[in-house]
Amino acid sequence: MTMERQRSLHQMALDQFRRAADLIDLDNNHREMLSHAKNEIIVNFPVRLDDGAIKVFTGYRIQHSNLLGPFKGGLRFHPQVDLDEVKALAAWMTFKTALVGIPFGGAKGGVTIDPAEYSRDEMRGVVRSFTHALGANIGPDHDIPAPDMGTNSQTMDWLMDTYANISPPGFRHSVKGVVTGKSMVCGGSAGREQATGLGVLYSLRHWCGEKNERLDSLSVAIQGFGNVGSHFAELASDAGCTIRAVGDHTGTIRSDAGIDVAKLRAWVSDNGGVGGYPAADEVDTEALFSENVDVFVPAALENQITSSRAISLNARLVLEAANGPTTAGGEEILAKRGIDVAPDILVNAGGVVSSYFEWLQNKSSRAWSMGDLDVRFRDIVWQAHDQVADTRKAIGCSRRDAAYVVALRRLSDVFDRRGTFF
Ligand code: NAD
Repeated sequence: MTMERQRSLHQMALDQFRRAADLIDLDNNHREMLSHAKNEIIVNFPVRLDDGAIKVFTGYRIQHSNLLGPFKGGLRFHPQVDLDEVKALAAWMTFKTALVGIPFGGAKGGVTIDPAEYSRDEMRGVVRSFTHALGANIGPDHDIPAPDMGTNSQTMDWLMDTYANISPPGFRHSVKGVVTGKSMVCGGSAGREQATGLGVLYSLRHWCGEKNERLDSLSVAIQGFGNVGSHFAELASDAGCTIRAVGDHTGTIRSDAGIDVAKLRAWVSDNGGVGGYPAADEVDTEALFSENVDVFVPAALENQITSSRAISLNARLVLEAANGPTTAGGEEILAKRGIDVAPDILVNAGGVVSSYFEWLQNKSSRAWSMGDLDVRFRDIVWQAHDQVADTRKAIGCSRRDAAYVVALRRLSDVFDRRGTFF
């Protein structure tokens, strides 16, 4: 077993962008600007629990860059959330929005909390108090949060409602776009819930096109069956893929015949996780990482495909639905073994593209049809994939490096034109 010293996640994000910066000889001043977040906001905020006691939580909002537009990025509620993780996730958002060419910058936020330990009323208190503590640091034309791990449309609805109620009366309806990923009835956009999973499926389709593979002949293993993992599983299964194994924080299951995704979704909604699902075999966590499949999809936490797991991974493609799931050591081994890696900033960008559509609809108080949304979504996501493929061919680099090169060129052009104000 190869031992790997764990780099800080933020350091890993910087290493990835600097490697691509070297490839295109990026201006040193642009490199320096992109190596630091613009604002790092940490708030400690009180929440009254059901038993009457007050508990103080720590929340973060890291605003990495607003060069291309308002800061944009999700909010994560998870026990592992810390400053280093949120800084990495914020930087990845800057490169992601630049890569897909939408007018947003990059940010990320989070609260160090296990949502499973708190009641619905307590979670509403957490969201309201966190939003109040962030105050004017967020806003529809300044910094726009969205869902991430441990948060969902209900979280976003409470956030929007709190922000609206602390805004002056004349602005309460025009601030809906302070957050995306809301429910449809509160100003959300059709398709937002599935959007990240749909973008992941487009990545897989694009890879099939490159490799001359048939989508409906592929077998898939997935880590994570939350928003991203479950919607991707459903879409991939509808497209004919066989979902051979699924793992989450409650267990790992596998079936040679394939897992019925609709039945598994119903089980997870009743039981909180895939563990114990009766229509498949239960195996240990590590077995997921050596399952013999065509495609391995990490859709949970970062740092999952380590060097030792990369050695035993039994897939031809790693489709990074999660942010930062492959360590530097893991990636080196995958490259040596000839296993393709489709990078996170490209693969999971569908979420922020759909968020952009929601924000535009909120600005104009109009709802676009599903047909309109589908066409615009496909255009943006597919074009980004084409650009990465062309850049990769032109430079002769990895898919990850090519994705960063596309993003860095866009950011660098704007730096050149705008200059820096100081
Ligand atoms: P989620 O909270 O809906 O689901 C997370 C899943 O990960 C759950 O199935 C959970 O059981 C599993 N998980 C948690 N800890 C685990 C562990 N230790 N081992 C195995 N599984 C574990 O989160 P999500 O929104 O689906 O996000 C998943 C990933 O996708 C994250 O990296 C997130 O940053 C990224 N992402 C999400 C979106 C979005 O729109 N939600 C957009 C872009 C990227």
